[in-house]
Amino acid sequence: MSFNTLGLTDALVRAVTEAGYTSPTPIQAQAIPAVLGGGDLLAGAQTGTGKTAGFTLPVLHRLSTDKAGMALTNKSSKRAIRALVLAPTRELAAQVEENIRTYAKYTNLNSAVIFGGVGIHPQIKLLANGVDILVATPGRLLDHVGQGTIKLDKIEILVLDEADRMLDMGFIHDIKKVLAVLPPKRQNLLFSATFSDEIKALADKLLNNPALIEVARRNSTVEVIEQMIHPVDRDKKHPMLAHLIKTNNWKQVLVFTRTKHGANKLVEQLGKDGIGAMAIHGNKSQSARTKALAEFKDGSLTALIATDIAARGIDIDQLPHVVNYDLPNVPEDYVHRIGRTGRAGATGEAVSLVCVDEHQMLKDIEKLIKQTLPRAVIPGFEPDPNAKAQPIQLRSGAPGHGNRGGRPGGGRPGGGGQPRAAGAGAGRSAAPNGQRSSAPAGGAARNGGGQPGNRNGANAGGRGNGGGNGGGGRGGQGRGPRPAGARSGGDR
Ligand code: AMP
Repeated sequence: MSFNTLGLTDALVRAVTEAGYTSPTPIQAQAIPAVLGGGDLLAGAQTGTGKTAGFTLPVLHRLSTDKAGMALTNKSSKRAIRALVLAPTRELAAQVEENIRTYAKYTNLNSAVIFGGVGIHPQIKLLANGVDILVATPGRLLDHVGQGTIKLDKIEILVLDEADRMLDMGFIHDIKKVLAVLPPKRQNLLFSATFSDEIKALADKLLNNPALIEVARRNSTVEVIEQMIHPVDRDKKHPMLAHLIKTNNWKQVLVFTRTKHGANKLVEQLGKDGIGAMAIHGNKSQSARTKALAEFKDGSLTALIATDIAARGIDIDQLPHVVNYDLPNVPEDYVHRIGRTGRAGATGEAVSLVCVDEHQMLKDIEKLIKQTLPRAVIPGFEPDPNAKAQPIQLRSGAPGHGNRGGRPGGGRPGGGGQPRAAGAGAGRSAAPNGQRSSAPAGGAARNGGGQPGNRNGANAGGRGNGGGNGGGGRGGQGRGPRPAGARSGGDR
């Protein structure tokens, strides 16, 4: 099948072909006709499936060919935001907008991205210049709504991207507030990797007789990814990783650690081994994150060490290796992590270094993905059979207080800036450990037809993203009381 046969305009087919794609992925083949038809859509698709183009292309088609789009062509009307994409993190928001820009190249539509943590004034100016498609994290969008610096009365299409993550990050109240200010008659598209009861409730409220598409089994891991567990003693993880990188001659490896401190330490250790590594997490300045990501993408940096939330939205074509240096506290994060490789049909390898403390986590992961992962002991790194499990270090300097082999009590970790963290109140920046991001200012936006406006790539961030969340997470508005200490600390 080709993009031509899906009914997209020549301008879009040309742009997508130039981007190097000749045939649609399964989600695109299903979502594009559904969205072109004008109805609502509920799509179960993980990152890596090509979902972004799956909604971007038909949205661009509709906006460029409807009455308002034609009026734009004839220059007989001003730009107004007609499509709004909500995304959980600044990285994802920037990435989605970059995709829109790529595919809109031969249309007369423009786009912009806004998120918190950066100056609002450049965004105000940009919005005043006129934008057709806006990508936003919910918190900053509401700031603009509150200040009256944005008009949303012409919205024709709303997209919720990675809706499950938005709910995980506590954005439900913000999403509801946004919905309340949108025109009631519109097309709604909801993309989610998983379908919790909360997502179902949101979908019920939001969507009107939606088309249903699901391209990967729920919580399934992508089949083209080869997965392997390497049992290892906890203090041998670093030499094992260096060994794997060197002996296999890995050139580009994304490594996940549980904590920001762990990420920094590993960068230092790998540096001593002569392996180029940089960390990406919520305590890093935005310029450091952008630099690390750029060097990693262009192949000049061997290892990118990331915490879970910082890694959301990182999109690297053909990333060959993902390493779980630490297993994630939340089993679903395993699926998200390894989904960074094996994207869009490419093959990938995901290895996990698992010590005795993490056996319960591994069991939980295997239960979720409904498979037993193969184990391989690496000669020279045989784990001590008598080693005793210790509580997992959940945040720098503070041992865990878990109930399951050191795991935090029964819940998702409250990553910094994640409003669900214990103690997060109704305020805006309730980062549980009191940290705030050091992300510098700088609006990220793009204007089409030669209008002023600067786009600074993946800069900017959410408000209240202290403590490690890379995204547009604003603190506060927790989901009701939770016993303090029921969640892990905000050191991701
Ligand atoms: P996404 O799931 O939107 O994050 O996309 C995953 C990756 O697939 C991105 O690197 C895209 O550039 C790539 N991609 C998107 N559409 C296609 C296509 N039709 N064929 C191959 N790769 C694609």
